[in-house]
Formats: sequence, C-alpha cells, structure tokens
Amino acid sequence: MTSQTTVKTLLILGASGDLTGRLLLPGLARLVARGRADGLTLVGAGSDPWTPEQWLDRIEESFADENSQADAYGKRELKRIRQDSTYHQLDVTAEGQLAGLLAKLEGPVAVYFALPPHVSQLACEALAPKDLPAGTRLVMEKPFGSDVESARHLNRTLAALVPEDHIHRVDHFLGKATVLNILGLRFANAFLEPVWNRSTIEKVEIIFDEDLALEGRARYYDGAGALRDMIQSHLLQIMALMAIEPPASLDERDLRDAVATVLRASSIKAPYAKSTRRARYTAGSIDDRKIPDYVKEKGVDPARETETLAEVEVQIDNWRWEGVPFILRSGKALGGMRKEAVVTFRPVPYLPKGFTGVDSPNQLRIGFGPDTLQFDVDVNGPGDVLSLDRATLHAELSASELLPYGEVLEGVLTGDPLLSVRADTAEDCWRILAPVLKSWSAGNVPLEEYPAGSPGPADWPA
Ligand code: NDP
Repeated sequence: MTSQTTVKTLLILGASGDLTGRLLLPGLARLVARGRADGLTLVGAGSDPWTPEQWLDRIEESFADENSQADAYGKRELKRIRQDSTYHQLDVTAEGQLAGLLAKLEGPVAVYFALPPHVSQLACEALAPKDLPAGTRLVMEKPFGSDVESARHLNRTLAALVPEDHIHRVDHFLGKATVLNILGLRFANAFLEPVWNRSTIEKVEIIFDEDLALEGRARYYDGAGALRDMIQSHLLQIMALMAIEPPASLDERDLRDAVATVLRASSIKAPYAKSTRRARYTAGSIDDRKIPDYVKEKGVDPARETETLAEVEVQIDNWRWEGVPFILRSGKALGGMRKEAVVTFRPVPYLPKGFTGVDSPNQLRIGFGPDTLQFDVDVNGPGDVLSLDRATLHAELSASELLPYGEVLEGVLTGDPLLSVRADTAEDCWRILAPVLKSWSAGNVPLEEYPAGSPGPADWPA
C-alpha cells in the first residue's frame, strides 16, 4: 500500500537521542518498507560531532528488526533511504545554524524536534518564517510546555512560523486505529449512542497501569511524574474521545473541534484531597524483578515528591455528562499491566423478585494496544435459570500494521494533523490540571506509598 506523502525531507533534530534511536527510526522503517514513504529523504542533526558512518550505523541498528522481515521491495527501500541520509552537526539554538541547514534541504520539510523541551522552544525562537521552505511542518514532542503559560508561549512561537494545520503536537499513545476504534464503536452502533449519557452511565474509568518502573529515566520522569507524563498528555485525550458529541465527519477539523469542546467543559473540582490521589512506589518485586525504592533510584530527588501513581476525577459540565465522574489513573511499578477504558452502567431500576445470584452492573471495556472490546452482561446462569450469572462478550478490534511512531510519522508526511493535539487543546489540558498541581505542591494532598508489584496503596479500591 502506498500513501501520498507531501513531505520530501524528514529532518530529525536530536538524531543521537533516545527517542530517535528507540522509537522514531523503527517507526519510520516500517513505513518505508511498506511503501508508505516513497521518495522521502532522511536527514539527521545533533550537537554531537558524529561522522557520517556513525549516523548510518545508528540507522542500520534501528532499521534491523524491520529489515529482517521486509520483502525484497522493503529491503531495497530501507537501503535507499539509509544510503541517501546525511548527518549535520549543529547547535539548533544558535542564530542561523538551523536556518542554514534548512536552506539546503528539498522542501517541503518536516522538522521533528526530538530535543529536550526547552531546547525545542529556543530552536523555534531562533527561526523566522523566511527560513522555512514552503510547506514546512513542525513536529513537537511531549511534554508540550509545563503549564498553561509555557504552552501558550510555545504556541505563539510556532504560530508565528507556520499555520496551525502544519504543526503536529505528537500524541503517540493514541494511534489512529485506536481513535477510529473508539469512534466506530460509539457512532456506528444505534443501540449504544442513546444510552451513552448520564441517565444510564454511572462512571467512566480510564486506566493506564504499567508494570515498568523508572527504567533509568529519572532525568525526565522525576521532573514530570504520573500526572504530567500520562494524564495531562494522553489520558485526557482518550477521555475526550469517549465523551465527544457525534462529529459530522472524521475530518481533522470536525473531530478536533469536538475534542476541544469537551475539554473546555472539563475540570477537576476542589477539594482536591477528595477528587485526586497520588502515591509513590517503595521497594518490591514484579515477577522475578527486584524493584528498588523509587527515591533510591539514580537521579531521583526525594524532595521533589514526584508521584509514580496519580488518580483524578474529572467532571464534564454539559448536558450529557453532568454528575458522571471520569476517573483517570496511571501509575508505574504496579502488579499488573492494565490499559483500558471501563464504562460502568447504572443498575437496572427494578429487578423482578425471584431472581437470585449476583446482579452486578453492566460494564463495557475497551482495551488499548491490542485494542479489544469486552461487554459484561448478566445472563441466566447455566443449570438454574433463576440464578443470574456474568457473561463476557469479547471482540478483537482492528489493529494498525504500523508502530505507534509510524502512525505519527505517517500523519506528518501525508499532511494529516488528525492525530495531533491542537493548540487550544494543549493549553486546556494544562488548565484542567493546574489547580491540582498547585494543591499537590502545597502539600494539600498526601503523597501515599505502595510497594512495587502491588495494585497500589492498600486503601485505594482495586
Ligand atoms: P535525549 O536527551 O536522549 O536526546 C536529546 C537530543 O537532543 C540529543 O541528541 C542531543 O544531542 C540533542 N540536543 C540537545 N541540545 C541540542 C542543541 N542545542 N542542538 C542540537 N541538538 C541538541 O532525549 P530523548 O530522545 O529521550 O527525548 C527527546 C524528546 O522526546 C523530549 O522532548 C522528550 O520529552 C520526548 N519523548 C521522549 C521519549 C523517550 O522514550 N525517550 C518518549 C516520549 C517523548 P547531544 O546528545 O549531542 O547533546
């Protein structure tokens, strides 16, 4: 399958970094091998004085998995893009250096800022619109700013360079298939949409529990924590898709307008000791892995009181959702991996006398990566027709053949910002969390503890 790329050159800034080697280049490799990046030139840039061979070695290493399973066409394309690729040493924050490189590249160019966030901001400030070849796309990584003000500042800097639909604020968590799976489930089923509201739904939980611990990422994570790292940038986006009004089309404008409308109506209400919780893991074990106490990990500053598990209750103040809690939770070093949205329906208004067994609320579960659908219903149990029993209907949902960063890059290369977070939405996500961050840093919500490998603090419901 080929797709129409509008971008001729992909320039990766931060070519020697972790994101580039571990996620971006492997994501690109699959696109290339499947004929979805025809004619693209790859250019790397960084502050390291790398030789051309060092860059080519890095590409080879990151392409290796894809190359081993590619067909003859894929192998040829992977070889071509690697052979034609060049590396440029530059300080992106220095006046004129990035502009000088851009002037030599064939446009349209996609500039991928795989840089520390403050360096990306400075690099954009060092550019002027005249430095950018026609049709340039700017790709910004998370975190997008660190609060409303810094996100707004970055938005203003970017808006002075290119139009909004040429800015891609990356959310690799929500792949295109997942977005469409949620929308397909919600809006292609006549039986579902009429019950998708406060009259029938009691609560919605969006959970991303990881069994991974810090994994040497203290430099980034200890300054971020679970609330900023996961809830601000990813889970609020899933919540919005679960809650949006039916869009007229899957066009980026219709969909991103609907997402923005929901997020504008969303807030976390005080008192925050009731609507939010935070905790940090202590030593423990997961399977046969020994996990050290978070505060003993290299690079962690205990005084920062960084949470590794966060939970917030978001309210959406509109007709459809008034009073329905949206509970968003994410944590590290937990006993099990859980990535799902769970919709719990209200109990039936009246259960005819005579039924026995358990009458539990219906639950709809959407699992993420791999995407699945599970519907828990009460049925008359086997053996005794009066006794209620739980049955689960299960379906596998469509999966993407691309890696998450392949989907991100395909959106960039084909000029489709559908999966990108829009400027107003990026600011709104910070606005929703701002009072919580303030309350936590004032110590108004206790930082609890849980042993690594457990389901969380003992008094949190499972
Ligand atoms: P790294 O610290 O591993 O890499 C940063 C890169 O930026 C290095 O190649 C570095 O080069 C380069 N760099 C720094 N300053 C300059 C400069 N002035 N001029 C040119 N190049 C410069 O970071 P990551 O790759 O981990 O992260 C990059 C971005 O991606 C961050 O915004 C991060 O939040 C985001 N991200 C990362 C993820 C990950 O798993 N790594 C996941 C999701 C998002 P040098 O080493 O020579 O200084």
